[in-house]
Amino acid sequence: MQKGNIGVTTENIFPVIKKFLYSDHEIFLREIVSNAVDATQKLKTLANKGEFKGETGELKVNVSVDKDKGTITVSDNGLGMTEEEIEKYINQIAFSGANDFLDKYKDDANAIIGHFGLGFYSSFMVSKKVEINTKSYKEDAKAVKWSCDGSPAYEIAESDKSNRGTDIIMYIDDDCKEFLEKNKIQELLNKYCRFLPVPVAFGKKTEWKDGKQVDTDEDNIINDTTPIWTKKPSDLKDEDYKKFYRQLYPMSDEPLFWIHLNVDFPFHLTGILYFPKIKHNIELQRNKIQLYCNQVYVTDSVEGIVPDFLTLLHGVIDSPDIPLNVSRSYLQSDSNVKKISGYITKKVSDRLQSIFKNDRKDFEQKWDDLKIFINYGMLTQDDFYDKAKNFALLKDCDGKYFTFEEYQTLIKDNQTDKEGQLIYLYAQDKEAQFSYIETAKNKGYNVLLLDGQLDTPVVSLLERKFEKSRFTRVDADVIDRLIVKESDNKSVLEANRSANLSAIFQAQMPKGEKTEFHVETQAMGEESMPVVITQSEYMRRMKEMAQIQPGMSFYGEMPDMYNLVLNTDHALIKEVLGDSEAATSEALKPIEAELKGLHARQAILRQQQDQKKPEEITQEEKDNMTKCNEDIDAQEKLKQEVLAGYGNDNSKVHQLIDLALLQNGMLKGEALNNFVKRSINLIK
Ligand code: ADP
Ligand code: MG
Repeated sequence: MQKGNIGVTTENIFPVIKKFLYSDHEIFLREIVSNAVDATQKLKTLANKGEFKGETGELKVNVSVDKDKGTITVSDNGLGMTEEEIEKYINQIAFSGANDFLDKYKDDANAIIGHFGLGFYSSFMVSKKVEINTKSYKEDAKAVKWSCDGSPAYEIAESDKSNRGTDIIMYIDDDCKEFLEKNKIQELLNKYCRFLPVPVAFGKKTEWKDGKQVDTDEDNIINDTTPIWTKKPSDLKDEDYKKFYRQLYPMSDEPLFWIHLNVDFPFHLTGILYFPKIKHNIELQRNKIQLYCNQVYVTDSVEGIVPDFLTLLHGVIDSPDIPLNVSRSYLQSDSNVKKISGYITKKVSDRLQSIFKNDRKDFEQKWDDLKIFINYGMLTQDDFYDKAKNFALLKDCDGKYFTFEEYQTLIKDNQTDKEGQLIYLYAQDKEAQFSYIETAKNKGYNVLLLDGQLDTPVVSLLERKFEKSRFTRVDADVIDRLIVKESDNKSVLEANRSANLSAIFQAQMPKGEKTEFHVETQAMGEESMPVVITQSEYMRRMKEMAQIQPGMSFYGEMPDMYNLVLNTDHALIKEVLGDSEAATSEALKPIEAELKGLHARQAILRQQQDQKKPEEITQEEKDNMTKCNEDIDAQEKLKQEVLAGYGNDNSKVHQLIDLALLQNGMLKGEALNNFVKRSINLIK
């Protein structure tokens, strides 16, 4: 028997491994099983090259748990190791500056383990002792047994192992007993070893016999050695892809479609990416792509490797060329990784383009589900926008689909305003904005339906990309001002009459903390609604952006601001105007006379002061001005009171306001109750 010290510069590396790599203990199994797989594959290679002339036999890896002995054993019939090889590959761990490194990456077990070839030593994360019992394929090689109890000291001795291959026996630590549970190991094998290229047996298949579950003779193989991404696309049917998808995500709906990746140059990469049906929250759908390195599962967080917008996809990527075992920041700056990301983007856009070209109908049918990916991609990646602009679709309120170009042609003639801007009208909710959509359609306009999660930022994007174009929601203004054509000669109400009428309604508007109304008048034609509520496109959009983008909370805090527009062409508004003028003229006459005098005085005072330098204006003159302004305010207040008093007692005013609110779903609670009561009184 021989004793020695493992060649590490650190006094005692194992406590360090244990202590710092706590978060990812479970990967030990992946490391040990994949070493066993490597060993069998190496033997196969040697046999193919004629360097190994014996029988390879059925190459297989066995995993077993012995709860009584407290061990996990991973056995293979691969190439095995000679004593010299153990000395070289196991005992000499190149470990310079290990402490510094461990310190730096203590939260990222993958980084340390991979970087230092610590694969085998990860077994010490869960073991108090590890044994290697091995016999090399080489002729006359003596079987050897290596063991180490977690200190840098190891023992090596002759072994009586008679068959070729290696057993790794891990004596599980007392604080890691969970790994002695069959279910736990089954779970880990399923996670990390499910697609390894060599059969991995975990115990035997069981069957029911005499009311008991008993082992059969058949191995319980836990992996699929030839997962479909390793096969040729031409050998696969749609059903194969769907089946594999169900296998990976048993709880998901069927995917929309998939892309089979297969590259040899300038890097190796295979995989299958699926476009899933995304339901509600896009965040929940992320990180479903699994990353493999030669069929060994590595991680399911792929940010940095696939472009951000494609992290919404599902599926697998397998590449021996992605430096998997390094830290994230390193990964993102790696040039191979950048190329991979660009390649995947191109593949995805090519595929979308070809579905669009070859089967437009199918593409349209999938569009509502696809839209979120394409929107996200266009928003986050300029080079993707440049491709997607040719196949991205716009859907109108009647469910028709158009490409950007087709849509532009459709609306060009009728929806260009007098400044030559093309106005895209849209609705976000077909129900809520029903009457506005109807009004626009009656004008011969087309209205898009933009009800997607990302449509608000997409609208801003398209406004930047399209020339001389503007998007506006159908209820952002009254129809004639949505798209301003040559000015027509509709009647215009004189300013003071308009102001009085507006004031009557303004005083009766509901007062909420989070909503504000501004009343104005506009001639909209006899056939249009008497009262229309609109909401400025700009403010509404800013508020919507505030909800999805950090740093815009200023807009989020602002109240919702609406316009109540009175149609001065409508008979009912004309009636209110006429009645109100008749009813208030008596009371307003003296106030208006007074105001007229005050405004004249104010003009004179202002003129006097304008001729002087600021320092020449006397205190008396200043006081006069202040007094005059105060008097105007007082008279204005009186006037408002008269108008408010009129509106307050006028059920037509209330009824008109409430109907407009009702049409926008804004009449609730007590106000709704009052409206119903008033309506009953009006018809009885
Ligand atoms: P890596 O797998 O990255 O080379 P490891 O620490 O996992 O690093 O393994 C170190 C070396 O030990 C391997 O390269 C291999 O030569 C040897 N080895 C480990 N496990 C086995 C095994 N089951 N059979 C044969 N050789 C093995
Ligand atoms: Mg290894």
